Amino acid sequence: MKAEPMLLVSEPILGSQEKAALADVIDSGWITMGERVSSFEHAFAEAHAADDAVSVSSCTAGLHLILHALGIGPGDEVLVPALTFVATANCVLYVGGTPIFVDIESSAQPLMSLQDAAAKCTPRTKAVILVHFAGYMVDPEPWQAFARERGLMLIEDAAHASGLPGAGAIGDAAAFSFYGNKNMTTAEGGVVLARDASLLDTIRRARGHGLTSGTFQRRSSRTPIYDVTMLGFNYRLDELRAAIGLVQLGHLKEWNAKRKILAESYRRRIGENCPSVAIPFEARRPSVHHIMPVVLPASSDRQDVIDHLRAKGIQTTIHYPAIHRLSFYRGLYPDVNLPRTEAFTDHELTLPLHPRMGLDDVERVTSALADALGERVPPAAFVMRDKSKHANLASG
Ligand SMILES: *Cc1c(COP(=O)(O)O)cnc(C)c1O
Repeated sequence: MKAEPMLLVSEPILGSQEKAALADVIDSGWITMGERVSSFEHAFAEAHAADDAVSVSSCTAGLHLILHALGIGPGDEVLVPALTFVATANCVLYVGGTPIFVDIESSAQPLMSLQDAAAKCTPRTKAVILVHFAGYMVDPEPWQAFARERGLMLIEDAAHASGLPGAGAIGDAAAFSFYGNKNMTTAEGGVVLARDASLLDTIRRARGHGLTSGTFQRRSSRTPIYDVTMLGFNYRLDELRAAIGLVQLGHLKEWNAKRKILAESYRRRIGENCPSVAIPFEARRPSVHHIMPVVLPASSDRQDVIDHLRAKGIQTTIHYPAIHRLSFYRGLYPDVNLPRTEAFTDHELTLPLHPRMGLDDVERVTSALADALGERVPPAAFVMRDKSKHANLASG
């Protein structure tokens, strides 16, 4: 008997369309910085109501290019949440700046706190990096006012927010991620959006060694000469990844809609069966539901819950180990204390959420969670009634 495959926290959706797109690139004989890269940039820009976009090798590279192009450097402070992936803070160190960690609002709203951000502003503060944690939209207006009043630059780490209306347009620039566990993927890859066309142009040039023309342009141009006008990087995306990205982007709306249905089902089921488990964010906050975070009761042992779910074939993870408590950052900034971030991250658990799942999977996870916490297991009659209502989705 074959064991049932583990239900994973996230899973990329890849199939015959991606295979065909890759084969087309190989048959074309041109694998870097060609027509697919520029088509993908246009398509992604359009999906986010932007005029233009610059594709990059990762979101991390995109964030680095943004800070570099905005001129952030030694002596400059950048406000960042600690409840995020380490790359959000790393990019500040790459340019010689200092990341200043800001606490979250609360466990019910685990987004960067405006009040704590205001308290941590100094004459050296130059920028703020916002993160749409779990795919939930940061409120644009208060942050725009905050940045305007203080003359700060506003940057979005939009790694969780591909396809989220309004994301990427809040401030000066934004970086998206297409890593394998994101809402759409190119294996590795990212995109940068920027409000100012000349800033985006600088980022485009810095992405490719600071050269004034690319390989593709030189092929079709009379003169093979190029100039270098700045210290650049090699942060390019290639044709193979762009071809996958074009296919994935075509499915993004439908996938995000399915994530929403699954997340709503989680909210209902957890409310009914695991009353001690809290779900962050108000259900009506716009989201692309990148992950499904929940907060376990303080009395529970998180490792026990993780083990219990794992024994039932369900993977869970933690978003995130707070950056200021990672060894490297603790070594650099030993005195940072963020009580609300710490309380959240000590009890957070991320449940499986991806468009390959059905409502039956949500049921399986919430039953196992209720069981692990010694809470009520759903009565069978209720489960069946709910299941038939969404029968098409459960089997899809
Ligand atoms: C995934 C992620 C990144 C890094 O993205 P890469 O494309 O892997 O560089 C940065 N920030 C956040 C919040 C992320 O989740």
